[in-house]
Amino acid sequence: MTDSRALAEAFNEVFGREPEGVWHAPGRVNLIGEHTDYNDGFVLPFALGLGVSVAAARRGDGVVEVRSRQAAAAVTAPVDGGPVVAEGWPPERAWAAYPVGTARVLRERGTGGASLLIDSDLPQGAGLSSSAALECATALALCDLHGAAVDRPALARLAQRAENEQVGVPCGPMDQAASLLCTAGHALLLDCRSGLSSQVPFAPAGSGMTLLVVDTRAAHALAGGEYARRRAECEEAAALLGVAALRDVKDLAGALGTLRDPVLRRRVQHVVTENHRVEATVGLLRAGAVTELGAMLNASHLSLRDQFEVSWPEADATVDAALRAGARGGRMVGGGFGGSVLVLTAADRAARVRDAVAAAYAERGWTAPEFIEAVPSAGARRVTPA
Ligand code: ADP
Ligand code: MG
Repeated sequence: MTDSRALAEAFNEVFGREPEGVWHAPGRVNLIGEHTDYNDGFVLPFALGLGVSVAAARRGDGVVEVRSRQAAAAVTAPVDGGPVVAEGWPPERAWAAYPVGTARVLRERGTGGASLLIDSDLPQGAGLSSSAALECATALALCDLHGAAVDRPALARLAQRAENEQVGVPCGPMDQAASLLCTAGHALLLDCRSGLSSQVPFAPAGSGMTLLVVDTRAAHALAGGEYARRRAECEEAAALLGVAALRDVKDLAGALGTLRDPVLRRRVQHVVTENHRVEATVGLLRAGAVTELGAMLNASHLSLRDQFEVSWPEADATVDAALRAGARGGRMVGGGFGGSVLVLTAADRAARVRDAVAAAYAERGWTAPEFIEAVPSAGARRVTPA
């Protein structure tokens, strides 16, 4: 996490006054439940120790002024305004759509202008949800500064709306809910239909295990189009099966017998079994059987690779190399076609697993992967004043 005192000092240098506080919102990894969110299903994310911090102070002129230590362009924009996405901002300002859009959505809850300085230790575009962390840190800061009483689940929905309506990204509810609702030592079971969530104990280190996030450093241009296609396929399958969403398929064998299109059959097979894997994983966690999660991760990866067809070569090679080096399991995380892989290993094998994965990349001439140890951490919070 960014040092809040250094960030406050930087705020002073940039804006010529003291910030009123510093807020932090974490990134997240989804332990299991991939491509289930838009099928009204279940996901099980946990918050990372890494995230986005923001030093902030109110402004009385109805303007948000945002700067980031990870972006060159400073942006000033009125809080009152329609969707940022409709204003055609130039690419160098695009990053500011997240905080400005959040301020615009929150306006309806009585918040106003502010100066914001952002800093982050979370890689961007690696599937760890830096975008939601940025929205949630901004949202929490604005509510605290302007005295808006918004409960966390409602704040998560407002931050999601900022990404949907203001930035123009059709994300589901998971990322913002994870950033705002997760607690240390737990994963968050989120029902994407009802929006209800519950805390599930999850502390891998307590069982001698380590979770590694491997940033495969691969990002493929297909991602957006393929994501839209998968969503459309799931909707089509649900319509053919006469259910509101694939979450409602209770009889998988019956459903597979009904569908004629082999592609739709594969998609349904993934979504239905993945929801069961989330439930099974929650059962294992509640029983304290962390080591057994490996089998769930492996099954999820195979299903995403073969049934949902969203994996990519670096992800498959990562899982393969990790398992050969003795990891308990691993799976691609995120929408697919690039991003990160989650690997579960006994802590005393973690170094060997990392080396094996790095060697597999070197052999193929790929850019070296990056490793982050994922520790289920606290959700968004005010850091100073405490
Ligand atoms: P992810 O959420 O998986 O990291 P996204 O593409 O959804 O990937 O969001 C990444 C975008 O969020 C970046 O391209 C940038 O516009 C914005 N962003 C995230 N963190 C920061 C930051 N610290 N400073 C400026 N912009 C950021
Ligand atoms: Mg994102």
